[in-house]
Amino acid sequence: MPARILDGKRVAEQVTAEVRDAVARRVARGMTAPGLAVVQVGEHAASSIYVRNKRRTTETVGMRSFALDLPATVGERDLLDEIDRLGADPSVNGILVQLPLPPHIAREAVIERIDPAKDVDGFHPYNVGRLALGMPALRPCTPYGCMRLLAETGEALKGKHAVVIGRSTIVGRPMALELLLAHCTVTIAHSATRDLADVVRSGDIVVAAVGKPRFVQGDWIREGAIVIDVGINRNDEGKLVGDVDFDAARERASYITPVPGGVGPMTIATLLANTLHAAELQQREALKAL
Ligand code: NDP
Repeated sequence: MPARILDGKRVAEQVTAEVRDAVARRVARGMTAPGLAVVQVGEHAASSIYVRNKRRTTETVGMRSFALDLPATVGERDLLDEIDRLGADPSVNGILVQLPLPPHIAREAVIERIDPAKDVDGFHPYNVGRLALGMPALRPCTPYGCMRLLAETGEALKGKHAVVIGRSTIVGRPMALELLLAHCTVTIAHSATRDLADVVRSGDIVVAAVGKPRFVQGDWIREGAIVIDVGINRNDEGKLVGDVDFDAARERASYITPVPGGVGPMTIATLLANTLHAAELQQREALKAL
């Protein structure tokens, strides 16, 4: 029987509606709506689409969206000053700097400058460190969104063997940490992994975050495995495809995410949930300081 589809679009709408309701309840109690600042440097075509979507969706849930568009020529010091300014602004609860950055700006320096309490992308070493220690605070959006999709299956994750293909700091590594937190036995595969097909075949859960169209073959998938495809690639015809050969993998998997309409929509929904969570955490800290 072909796999059931994990409909990321539907789950993302559900998460977004939950955030919208929570924001409305806060505002009804006289609190300010959470604010999210999305910083874009330069005009990278794909980034501009992501940034526009993030800003628009922020407004649709009743949050305040702060847009900061800087030229590609902006100096690192000026960018860091802007991040400090947003960090000090109490109406800004979340700060996101859209990647990639121009080559003259050190991405690590920028990420580390964001106040960890406002780091809604969850990329700051403080937040990654907390996740690694099993004490998550603000969690990277894409892996956290994948966990929500895994929860949709209703399957117990404890004890399952999860194979994550990819070890990037924004997807693969934090994904592995999330799965470990869920008591999976985790294998991280990467470009130096030997016998990749066999490694993937041993996975009850397979998460593909490689960035290569239809890289994961259908016969690499164990019968009944859950397949989460993070990849977003354009094929030769310009169509969006994932990292997994969907049609072939679907014949063997129990659940599978489509591309588009799987992990992608979950990333923005999780960003909004993180912004709300950041506002709540900041409010708790402010109360403690009274
Ligand atoms: P990166 O390029 O940063 O990382 C790719 C990873 O794949 C690396 O760890 C690399 O290994 C590994 N890899 C490359 N070739 C092979 C191979 N032949 N065998 C095994 N592993 C290999 O990509 P990202 O993690 O940033 O993104 C991955 C994909 O996810 C992309 O398609 C991206 O567009 C998509 N994405 C989707 C998001 C969403 O919201 N749905 C969000 C973010 C990304 P090594 O480390 O050894 O080089």
